[in-house]
Amino acid sequence: MDFKGQVAVITGGARGIGKTIAEALARKGVNIVIADISSEQAQGTASEIEKLGVKSTGVGLDVSKSEEVVRAFGEIAKDYGRIDILVNNAGITRDGLIMRMKEEDWDAVININLKSVFLCSKEAVKIMAKQRYGRIINISSVVAFMGNPGQANYSASKAGMVGLTKTTAKEYASRGITANAVAPGFITTAMTDALPENVKEEMKMAIPLGRFGATEDVANAVVFLASPDAGYITGQVIHVNGGMYM
Ligand code: NAP
Repeated sequence: MDFKGQVAVITGGARGIGKTIAEALARKGVNIVIADISSEQAQGTASEIEKLGVKSTGVGLDVSKSEEVVRAFGEIAKDYGRIDILVNNAGITRDGLIMRMKEEDWDAVININLKSVFLCSKEAVKIMAKQRYGRIINISSVVAFMGNPGQANYSASKAGMVGLTKTTAKEYASRGITANAVAPGFITTAMTDALPENVKEEMKMAIPLGRFGATEDVANAVVFLASPDAGYITGQVIHVNGGMYM
């Protein structure tokens, strides 16, 4: 896998799965832009990434706001001159049963998890099309395929992402850009740490491999899809879930 001189933008890359993806790509020699809601945390993670011997910058933006996305991608293009890899990873949950779910919680999750992928991909493909090369990887979820009580907004956002991935793949294949999704199952991060112990134990029983995934399990799939070696794979979903959905 030869990533020499490449540049990756990872949304929500300041912590969790996004941070591990950033570190894994940096270890392959990819220069990294951490794009996260908190500019301070993005810069903090970027400083850690630089210790791995690549250039790295932290950019503060809300991925659901078009003007902030346009500004951020403009700055990145000016600073780095290219974008080879976009990982649409920023995401939130606002759980609740449908009959109790507030409209604002529906809108927030759809905007931050799904609209953001449209906004960021729109800016990235302009740059990637000129290069005739690009890799877009969207972080979906197992619940897009299984559904999950209490996660109507989240599962809809993650399922919508799959349709968007396939359309991106078809629209930009002729420009050398691939678009794929990775659908993690339950991965140990702050998002899943918040679950009660009994719920976690129940979930483990539904996983044939008998454990929650690690952020590295997701990053390994992303690094492969981001690599030049994955050039004949587009419009696909790689499931990283320990077998809980097949
Ligand atoms: P996480 O630890 O909560 O990290 C998400 C990052 O995104 C945080 O740094 C967060 O910033 C940032 N963010 C939130 N809203 C943003 C916005 N509007 N603009 C820019 N950045 C924003 O989550 P994670 O567990 O690593 O999950 C990463 C992705 O994997 C998400 O898309 C999630 O849905 C997906 N996923 C996770 C799991 C799992 O088990 N963990 C399973 C399947 C899929 P703040 O922390 O400052 O809000």
